[in-house]
Amino acid sequence: MTSASVARAEPRWGPGAAGALNDRYSGRALDALADTLTDPAFGATALVSSFGADSAVLLHLAARVRRDTPILFVETGWLFAETLRYAEDLSRHFGLTDVRWLHPDQTTLDTKDLRRLRWSYDPDGCCDIRKVDPLDRALTGFDLWISGRKSHQNRARAQLSLFEPQGTRLKLNPLHDWSSEQLRQYAANHKLPPHPLVAEGYPSIGCSPCTSRVQPGEDPRAGRWRGWDKSECGIHVPSEPGNDPVF
Ligand code: SF4
Repeated sequence: MTSASVARAEPRWGPGAAGALNDRYSGRALDALADTLTDPAFGATALVSSFGADSAVLLHLAARVRRDTPILFVETGWLFAETLRYAEDLSRHFGLTDVRWLHPDQTTLDTKDLRRLRWSYDPDGCCDIRKVDPLDRALTGFDLWISGRKSHQNRARAQLSLFEPQGTRLKLNPLHDWSSEQLRQYAANHKLPPHPLVAEGYPSIGCSPCTSRVQPGEDPRAGRWRGWDKSECGIHVPSEPGNDPVF
């Protein structure tokens, strides 16, 4: 057995890794982003993007470090046409060279969502087969992934930290403490192309059946799964037992 295969068989990160990295990178989130994308000590790193309302900021930051960053984009089959066009346009605009469009497994769809109505009676199950499963498969071989979650987005995300453990991997949230005003300012300073649906009243954009307009004063994610006791899709499992699921 080679040393490489031994390294692959063992989780790269021990139980205290996230805490130690949070101490090392305290107040230096963008250094953490640059290092995870360039330092081999972090292993294989991918960035997961929904090409949604705020995605341009993180993609721009990553592209300035490496345009060949692997970008994982889950195309659930239910995304808005505007999001698909935005993903293509933004990838071209930033010169991203490794954007991977992920799709649900067709056999699974045929057995579990043949009529394409699962979102209407079992959104958790729909997210599992259309988001969680494709991403899980794509993350095989990666040691760390980068997420665009922000603490201000809703109460479930209020306690986000820079590094989080997630199973055998680590997750990096470089924008965890950015305010909506900081995001807006960064996007304006760098003239980042906006998602076209933001101007139409969608501050958070997911799949078309599960995304509605948000009224003034509402939580920015209030339009996601409106009417359901659900605010996350399951991609972001709890980092500690007892925490609510978060996305
Ligand atoms: S957001 Fe809605 S349509 Fe999209 S995968 Fe989840 S339940 Fe299905």
